Amino acid sequence: MPIPQQLKPKCFQIKAPPELATTVKGAITSLFRSVDFSRGPVIEVTALDTAAGIETTVELEQHQPWHHFDAEINDPCYDQADRANRVKERIRLGVKTVLCQAYGIPFSPWGILVGVRPTKLVHRLIDRNFSREKIISILTDVYGVAGSRQELLLDVVDRQRSFFMPNVNNPVSVYVGIPFCPTRCGYCSFAAYPFETHSHLVKSFLKALHQEITALGELLREHNIKVQSVYLGGGTPTTITGSDLSKLLKLLNEYFDADRCQEYMVEAGRPETLTPETLEILKAHGVQRISINPQTMNDRTLQLIGREHTADQVREAFALAARYQFEHINADLILGLPGEGQADFCYSLEEIIKLGPDHITIHSLALKRASRFGQNLEQLELEQKLGEAMSNYARERLAGINMNPYYLYRQRYIFSDLENVGYAKAEAESIYNVQMMEERQTIIGLGGGAITKLVSPDLTVVRHANPKCPATYAQQLAEFIDPKKFQIKRHLSV
Ligand code: SF4
Repeated sequence: MPIPQQLKPKCFQIKAPPELATTVKGAITSLFRSVDFSRGPVIEVTALDTAAGIETTVELEQHQPWHHFDAEINDPCYDQADRANRVKERIRLGVKTVLCQAYGIPFSPWGILVGVRPTKLVHRLIDRNFSREKIISILTDVYGVAGSRQELLLDVVDRQRSFFMPNVNNPVSVYVGIPFCPTRCGYCSFAAYPFETHSHLVKSFLKALHQEITALGELLREHNIKVQSVYLGGGTPTTITGSDLSKLLKLLNEYFDADRCQEYMVEAGRPETLTPETLEILKAHGVQRISINPQTMNDRTLQLIGREHTADQVREAFALAARYQFEHINADLILGLPGEGQADFCYSLEEIIKLGPDHITIHSLALKRASRFGQNLEQLELEQKLGEAMSNYARERLAGINMNPYYLYRQRYIFSDLENVGYAKAEAESIYNVQMMEERQTIIGLGGGAITKLVSPDLTVVRHANPKCPATYAQQLAEFIDPKKFQIKRHLSV
């Protein structure tokens, strides 16, 4: 298989006003994995901002130039900051258009939106009372987003608006990271340490986690901050069993009222971790929502990606979970797994639908550097049309059973330049997923690799990341807990 253009090293020289060089570089590196800017063909960019509008030209030696005149920016709904941004947006669009044409790269259905959260842009436009028509025209003309992705975006943001609370700091949500898994999947880039080789770290990790829960729980109480949702992720929290799991959930109930808040969710992603005892413990402590993640229902692929369970174990886990009557069950699937085509993906989707979850998340495989597959990137088949067809099929199929998209995010090096989308039946949407993704609520992150996001009323976000490694987390907690408490306290007191 030929290596896709995006994965081949490239060289370019940039000729542009100094203040715009970073924007040009950013647009180039969003297309290619490795770029040398010291030699190679010249990309020349000019941008002229006059009272009449913004005139932008992008030229690449021996290729068709791109020229655009933007008078729409003179609309009174825009301010000076919009104008400065528009110059950069035009350059991004021009550079990407020229390079895609020159190298035969399919233009991304997401246009120049390369960020993780394209929904945030649309929410900001809605906040400014831009009309639907205006938003669609901006997505098309300025960002180059394809019609199918515009529809998806608007569908998602429409479902999210009712989740936004007037006060971004009360209530908050709580994330608890448990960085252990039975084994490490080949595509994983999360904080996930195989239990077999790292179980000796569990005791010290949990001891530190209990300390962090107590410290932050007391802080929230002092400030009379309510908790809207509690989410246990990782890793696979159900790798922890028996009395360890019970004690942890009890503590979360005591300090965050987890069993009485609006949403209490535990990732039980690996079906082999679900035993009657574990499910009994989750249920007894008030957990309402679990996630059982097959990723694929093809045994051959499961083996290939390092998940040591079978599709039948997924079926058994669903049957077992059904006995405990959790309010909601999510199932994750991955589109673009190695060796899988449309027929494999459709089979998995149908098999999952038969199991009856009320929430399905469709991920597109992202090969990050940290993953085992990431080291063999030439294996990545960037067949955009195939990926889009599968993604569109999933959307239509799920709409047919009243499961609608309500959150989405993107990653770099994602299969076919697609997206990850959460679909849910009415009222089965996860509050935490929306709050975490849209960053309209403060999230207190506890445990391994957990990220605290302190959101201000103007929607700026300050982050604090805990160490990913369970040993480092346990060792360093004493050092970082007081500064972290101080930072959160100061934020909540403003
Ligand atoms: S189950 Fe999830 S967190 Fe655990 S190793 Fe696999 S991808 Fe990573």
